[in-house]
Amino acid sequence: MHRVSPRTLPPGLEALTGLALDLRWTWNHAVDGLWQRVDAELWNATHNPWVVLQNVPQARLEQLRSDEAFLASLATATDERAAYLRTAGLCASRWPVDVPSGVAFFSMEFGLSEALPLYAGGLGVLAGDYLKTASDLGVPMTGIGLLYQEGYVRQTIDASGNQRETFPYNDPVSLPIQPALGTDGSWLEVTVPLPGRVLRLRVWQAQVGRAALYLLDSNHVLNGAVDRGITAKLYGGSVETRLLQEVVLGVGGWSLLALLGKDDAVAHLNEGHAALAALERARRYMHARGVPFDEAWWATRAGNVFTTHTPVASGFDAFSPSLVDKYAQRLLADCRLSLQDLLALGRADPADDDEPFNMTYLALRGCAQASAVSRLHGEVSRRLFARLYPRWPLAEVPVRHVTNGVHVPSWDSAQADALWTAACGKGRWRGDLRCLEAAVAATDDAALWNLAARQRAELVRYARERAELQAGLRGESTGQAAGAQGGLDPNVLTLGMARRFTGYKRMNLLLQDPPRLIRLLTNPSRPLQLIVAGKAHPEDVEGKRQVQAWVTFTRRPEVLGRAVFLEDYDLALAQRLVQGVDLWLNTPRRPWEACGTSGMKTLANGGLNVSTLDGWWAEAYDAACGWAIPAAGDDAQDAATLYRLLEDEVVPCFYERNAHGLPPRWVQRMRASMSRLAPRFSSNRMLLGYLEDFYLPAARALRRRSEHESLAAWARDISSHWHEVRLDDVDVVLDGDAWRFRAHVYLGGMRREWVRAELYADERHGMPRQCVPMQIGSPIGGSIGGYEFVTTLPAIRPADDYTVRVRPWHDDAFLPAELPWIAWQR
Ligand SMILES: *Cc1c(COP(=O)(O)O)cnc(C)c1O
Repeated sequence: MHRVSPRTLPPGLEALTGLALDLRWTWNHAVDGLWQRVDAELWNATHNPWVVLQNVPQARLEQLRSDEAFLASLATATDERAAYLRTAGLCASRWPVDVPSGVAFFSMEFGLSEALPLYAGGLGVLAGDYLKTASDLGVPMTGIGLLYQEGYVRQTIDASGNQRETFPYNDPVSLPIQPALGTDGSWLEVTVPLPGRVLRLRVWQAQVGRAALYLLDSNHVLNGAVDRGITAKLYGGSVETRLLQEVVLGVGGWSLLALLGKDDAVAHLNEGHAALAALERARRYMHARGVPFDEAWWATRAGNVFTTHTPVASGFDAFSPSLVDKYAQRLLADCRLSLQDLLALGRADPADDDEPFNMTYLALRGCAQASAVSRLHGEVSRRLFARLYPRWPLAEVPVRHVTNGVHVPSWDSAQADALWTAACGKGRWRGDLRCLEAAVAATDDAALWNLAARQRAELVRYARERAELQAGLRGESTGQAAGAQGGLDPNVLTLGMARRFTGYKRMNLLLQDPPRLIRLLTNPSRPLQLIVAGKAHPEDVEGKRQVQAWVTFTRRPEVLGRAVFLEDYDLALAQRLVQGVDLWLNTPRRPWEACGTSGMKTLANGGLNVSTLDGWWAEAYDAACGWAIPAAGDDAQDAATLYRLLEDEVVPCFYERNAHGLPPRWVQRMRASMSRLAPRFSSNRMLLGYLEDFYLPAARALRRRSEHESLAAWARDISSHWHEVRLDDVDVVLDGDAWRFRAHVYLGGMRREWVRAELYADERHGMPRQCVPMQIGSPIGGSIGGYEFVTTLPAIRPADDYTVRVRPWHDDAFLPAELPWIAWQR
């Protein structure tokens, strides 16, 4: 990338630009001191090197030029960065050298830093963590997103406890990004045809260590006024604007990859928002190879991976057929598709003319592999998508899961970092995680408790300061401000809860019985203190009501100093909270939390979790590590369980002290949670999961299909003959202690090597699900395409448990995702 300084830097200091533009500073705190020295006031206020560099007085820069010590640390930082970029990374050797384009990661949001506020919540924060992890592990990755003029909503609370929103303007000049330049030095631009005009997109680039993030921006002087506003606001505007944003992400994003020469990348589409990338990829392949659309669709689909992040059907984006018609004209003509053909790709029932065009369905059809974001979410997703794979058992609906994880170096405190370094050495989150469990398991009680105490004290100091500032901004009486200032106690059990205020997250669960909560908070010998934060969507009336309920509660005189609401939840505040709390609370309504990641951020810092058995906690929970609220589904019951857990288990566990003044059972849980859960729910493990189970198979299949056969002809033949498949005369005999199955299968005009016959048994009588391939026997005399299929298996369960089925088969196809035919014995 061509680096443009925000200003002319004095000779000798030029290297500052490269450091400030590499967002690795968001997790590599070794350079914090350097920026502090440039300008302590600017640094402390913003923690944003790019802003420091833009605003530091020229006189200060002139001083630094001759500050030997400073120049030495600048040289060290520059060398360290160069070494980081040079080191291959754990995964570099796993990535096939013949796919240099790596992975293109598409997302509507990226939450890398407060300095680049292009996110609204968990999806964006995850995408940010993902790019950082790819950089650390050396997986070649390119992020594709949008640059919004208005990013994350900012929250203030007025005197009556109402949420007030502001949408600060994202001035590209002060964001740590640069225009992406072509090889000839001109600003990269991508065009997308729209009805009657061409949409021009400017391309920006952010550097995330080794990974690059490209951001598309419709605010181009040659666009009409309305088009300039397409990327004005994250999730803003009308349904039509939303569709156009998805056109920008999918069509514009894929066009950019093509421009960069990366169109053989594995595409990872996050949420249905990016689904149009699959269509654009196929369209371009079709023209490049001069093949029909169908060929191109089959050839390129192998290289696409889809992750669904939503557990409810109402969360999927869907557009009316007329809106699709309006924008699809050129695509249809270009690909020689009918509107009907296109709509069928986004419908559960292609024959239903009233069904809208669902982007999640399009993504499932346009990607050979799909994943959900936790084990439970995998089950939920298979149910949600079962209609797309008729007659397939639920367990075989082709959606697997990779549970999300968090980028630990972005979330651990300086103290936790020191403790992990002492136990496992530097660079541990960049490498193999196996050694971590044993190392932390050997850390002694005093070190762990000391860590908790220091982190809590730091959070209490920070929260007081912030509460005081909030009170001051509201112009509250000095008495109230003093109350907030004197509040919170560094020795009290500290519970944190912070996330988006939205219905299913049930942020109000703990407020179901205020007197009971007040008793917990004001217990004279074993009190609890509470820090709450979170924003409601500007249009979410119920969410805003809950914000107000919490603000009102924290202002009650009897809880002053025991409960605070911190305004303007964002990445920076999230970091402070997860580093300082003893306990993190999450109370989603099962199964609405696809995964949830905020609780994972506390793990490496020694924070414990208490949560509904939903999302990640449903698979992580273990009594040795934390506490669970078994989901009754009923708010009153779940609240009662939560109060009881806090009163009878959590609070006593924290305040029970041994002769050394330590709470032995609490510390034991910290150790178990840190050693066992922190590595498992790190993004390091998540990225390795995607790499091994999704990206590498995708890269291999993509190459095979582009070099050999796209499988389109195979699929066409099977589809035209499938109705001829018939199964009858299954007989079974007991031969010693084995069942011998024999089935007569009629394939009509289909070739026998195109199908596989299987014996299938559901989970039953305490026996697991089972699927046994059958061997093809002799042709059935006098029949057309009739064959005997046979198999023998141990008679350990009733023969009645088994059913014969026939399905298409090809070693190079992802099935049933790509061809969902199946026929069963009647
Ligand atoms: C981690 C994070 C989230 C997501 O948290 P959940 O528990 O998944 O809701 C949202 N916003 C911010 C600022 C975060 O840091």
